[in-house]
Formats: sequence, structure tokens, C-alpha cells
Amino acid sequence: MDKIRRSDEEWRRSLTPEQYRILREKGTERPYTGQYTETATPGVYLCAACGLELFPSETKFDSGCGWPSFYDPLTSENVEEHEDRSHGMVRTEVTCSRCGGHLGHVFPDGPTPTGLRYCINSASLRFNKK
Ligand code: FE
Repeated sequence: MDKIRRSDEEWRRSLTPEQYRILREKGTERPYTGQYTETATPGVYLCAACGLELFPSETKFDSGCGWPSFYDPLTSENVEEHEDRSHGMVRTEVTCSRCGGHLGHVFPDGPTPTGLRYCINSASLRFNKK
């Protein structure tokens, strides 16, 4: 995949302050505050920074955790996983494969068929209705 590389200044210009804090500084939105936490409309969720298709609505489920949750990305090539040892925890960070934007984390407590829960910030996503 061709990577998108932009300077901090360019990202600051193209993202809202909240998107910049989360996507570029690995922040987290407060639970239950994101615009996509409870949506169930058919469509696809894209990276808010670069528009890469990330998660189909078919894999979205109600996890009760306060962030949009998916059990599978559209394709595994579109997301990357990294070990995250910040905040005294060992977690798996999920980023956009194309722009490197921080999306959230993936946990091994999701539903079938994958058993995974991709816990993703709404601010890192943009929705395209089917
Ligand atoms: Fe991206």
C-alpha cells in the first residue's frame, strides 16, 4: 500500500483539533461521546484522515464499552497492529495502514466469528452510507 505522509502542520490544517489529538497524538475520546458509538446504519467506516475504507457496518456490534466496536476490518491490509505499553497496560494499538493515523485498540474479547473487539474512536472515522 502507498503510504500517505504529511507534516504535522499539514495534518493540523486538515483535521479538527479533536481529530488531530486522537489520530496524530494517539489520544482517546471520552466514552459515549463519539458520533458513531451507537449507529447501526448500513455502510462503511473510513479513516477520517485519509479516507481509506476500514470497517464495514456488518461487523459493527454493540459492545457496551462506549466506543464504536467492530469484530473485523474490511480487509486486514487496511489496518496495522502495534504493541502499546503506555499507561501501565499492554494493549494492541490499531492504526490506518495508509496514513498511520491512530484508530484505537483491539482486544481478544469480541463476538464470533473472530473473537476480536476493535474498539475505535469515532473521531478517527468517517461514515459512508450504503
Ligand atoms: Fe488513514
